[in-house]
Amino acid sequence: MTTTKPLAARPGGAERHSWLSNPLDWPHIDRMVLLAGLVMICPVALSLWLAGVALIAPDWVNPPVVKALFSLFALHALLLGSFLLAARYRRQRKSSWSLMESVIIFSYALVCLISSWLTGTQFTAGLLLLLLGVNIASPLASIHKLKQAYGLVCIALAVFIFLYLNGGFTHAPLFARPPYQADGSPVMFWFVFQSVLAVTLLLILYIGLVATERWSNREDLYREMSTVDGLTRLTNRRSFIERGESELNRTRRTPTSQLSCIMLDIDHFKGINDTHGHDAGDAVLVKVSEIMMDNARQYDEVGRYGGEEFAILLPATPLENAIKVAERLRARIEAVEIPCNGTTLRVTASFGVACYPYNDIQDMNGLLKSADTALYAAKHGGRNKVIAAREQSLAANG
Ligand code: GH3
Ligand code: MG
Ligand code: MG
Repeated sequence: MTTTKPLAARPGGAERHSWLSNPLDWPHIDRMVLLAGLVMICPVALSLWLAGVALIAPDWVNPPVVKALFSLFALHALLLGSFLLAARYRRQRKSSWSLMESVIIFSYALVCLISSWLTGTQFTAGLLLLLLGVNIASPLASIHKLKQAYGLVCIALAVFIFLYLNGGFTHAPLFARPPYQADGSPVMFWFVFQSVLAVTLLLILYIGLVATERWSNREDLYREMSTVDGLTRLTNRRSFIERGESELNRTRRTPTSQLSCIMLDIDHFKGINDTHGHDAGDAVLVKVSEIMMDNARQYDEVGRYGGEEFAILLPATPLENAIKVAERLRARIEAVEIPCNGTTLRVTASFGVACYPYNDIQDMNGLLKSADTALYAAKHGGRNKVIAAREQSLAANG
């Protein structure tokens, strides 16, 4: 929920943006303006509902409670309105307003709690308080503050119930009589108003759900952006290493298991960029990635390790098998023809292969280093070849 955290107030004011754009892109203070606007619907809708009940069925309500509720809604609207007005000026200087966030959340919870107790409208007020509040505020505001508000509401409800059981506090004192006729048939006005209120609240709830959906789509996008390479769609370096570490831990737990890693680097790639342009270079990277993906098993991980450097993780694979995979890939890359800008490009790649638990490899870093050293040897050995870390260490040992 980093996106919803109030950022430190940025001097110089909130950045300009379209009010029709995604609210999650807005500065904190503008998200609070939206939240206050949405929450403002609550006292306005409840006042209209109350006015309707008081006008149409005056015998059913207790005038002092009606007055108290109107005052509560008016105060709430006034409070939110004042903050909205003040935010207009503050946003020219600051980009966030933590106090406004607290006031919106806690006043909203308080008003819902009091009005639901006084009116006894468990269904609509419960919907408003629990679903609406969470849905609207969760993508826009601090989850931490929301949790605090709901915690306080639970404590207050417990106190209310305790007082009620001890005869000190009546439940639903707004109503002078139940919403039923003497013969037990329902009072239609009551149900019509309840329904109108429920529809209004469901509409607001829908807005909240849309906001939540936007937020969750954004989470998906961020997750993808942080794990996948934009050009080749392969796993990026960071998540490749993460996967490698967990595979290595798994391999450690199974004494007979082996984890292999292939590193490959396209030969003379800079020359392709220089001769045919960056687009051609990109096309080569995409094609080589496709070849690797087509040849990988379901549980192998293919990652873009650097510019034109790739790595493949092969769980439960001994060195000999990994060498065969690398050799097959080398031959496929050498054979492929890549059409680009009216010409056909051909490339080769050099490969380094390493395997845990050989060559004193202790961790993922050691495995990658070992494969990289073998790759370096393949480059120095004339390129377009596969060198395994084992051969290398044997050679080093004489
Ligand atoms: P060697 O055979 O020794 O590996 O030589 P090389 O030319 O392949 O290696 P070098 O490291 O000299 O050049 C790598 C080039 O890859 C340089 C860089 O501009 C290019 N490169 C890195 N990322 C990208 C990319 O995303 N797209 C394109 N088109 N080029 C890239
Ligand atoms: Mg290269
Ligand atoms: Mg390179």
